[in-house]
Amino acid sequence: MFNALLVEKDAEGKTHAAVRSIGMDRLPEGDVTVAVEFSTVNYKDGICVGPGGGLVRTYPHVPGIDFAGVVEASSDPRYAVGDKVICTGWRVGEARWGGYAQKARVKADWLVPLPAGLTTRQAMAVGTAGFTAMLAVMALEDHGLVPGAGQVLVTGAAGGVGSVATAILAHLGYEVAAVTGRPETADYLRGLGAAQIVARADLAETVKRPLEGEVWAGCIDAVGGAMLARVLGQMKYGASVAAVGLAGGATLPASVIPFLLRGVNLLGIDSVMRPYDDRVRAWDRIAQDLPMDKLEAMVQPATLSDLPRLGADILQGRVQGRVVVDVN
Ligand code: NDP
Repeated sequence: MFNALLVEKDAEGKTHAAVRSIGMDRLPEGDVTVAVEFSTVNYKDGICVGPGGGLVRTYPHVPGIDFAGVVEASSDPRYAVGDKVICTGWRVGEARWGGYAQKARVKADWLVPLPAGLTTRQAMAVGTAGFTAMLAVMALEDHGLVPGAGQVLVTGAAGGVGSVATAILAHLGYEVAAVTGRPETADYLRGLGAAQIVARADLAETVKRPLEGEVWAGCIDAVGGAMLARVLGQMKYGASVAAVGLAGGATLPASVIPFLLRGVNLLGIDSVMRPYDDRVRAWDRIAQDLPMDKLEAMVQPATLSDLPRLGADILQGRVQGRVVVDVN
């Protein structure tokens, strides 16, 4: 038996999440069984712990889009008992049972080895949010961003993606401008390395002029919607925006003029279906370029029974930084 956060649906279609003891025979099929040590809370987890939002296919469901732990059984030659592994993406925790449990079983293809220099706890302090932040940094670098080019904007900065993006960019020598709707997080963001705090309200207005002054040399955007549309018109000539999230909305009320007259690039960042080699590269970069003291400053600890509350909180934009869930 093992403990898991189980989400069940009642006759009226309402979901209920609670910690339950479950038999090993209920784990899904897969090549590798993992004794989970830590998981975390991402925006998507908030959806899957709550009403499911079309992401969860069948109930009862075990959410948790990320986990890190130790291989307990493996029929795949790539992983042996005792190996430490990370799982993110591949719709684990959405369409498939995930990491809010003491045991998980998945395909070997979905795992990556824990990189040298990281613990399973640190890996989950990073989680999908931080992994995606690193993918965004790498995309901006691939499109020519270098330190010294000017200010790099991070939107949704006090959230998970934004916090990790801020810490990595600052460590790499970029001048980070952090957008937040929570002025009380200013000291926290400065502690992560932000050079400037931008009030969310300053970017809240919808686009009136398709081009404004050229301000940002790059942007990692976790917010989407009207804010992303506005930011496009403020990018420097030839600069790139890595579009990561939709915390502020999925529609993009934008003009194409910044693409046509300023050669601005809008780079889509997906973490879920990312091929294996990219994953390993990104995790190695995280181990190298994310200062662990900064990561620790983002962390709030939690247990399985805290997850229904934290799931609701993250959907309301009330979680600061990263949550680490000790499932044991
Ligand atoms: P968080 O909730 O931790 O962070 C989101 C932040 O966005 C909030 O903390 C808040 O920051 C800001 N925000 C929230 N609501 C609004 C709003 N209405 N308008 C403007 N800003 C807002 O979530 P995550 O960091 O985990 O995820 C961020 C986004 O990235 C989500 O949309 C998520 O789905 C997406 N994502 C995408 C991935 C991919 O593969 N593409 C992978 C991981 C996440 P502040 O208080 O500082 O303003």
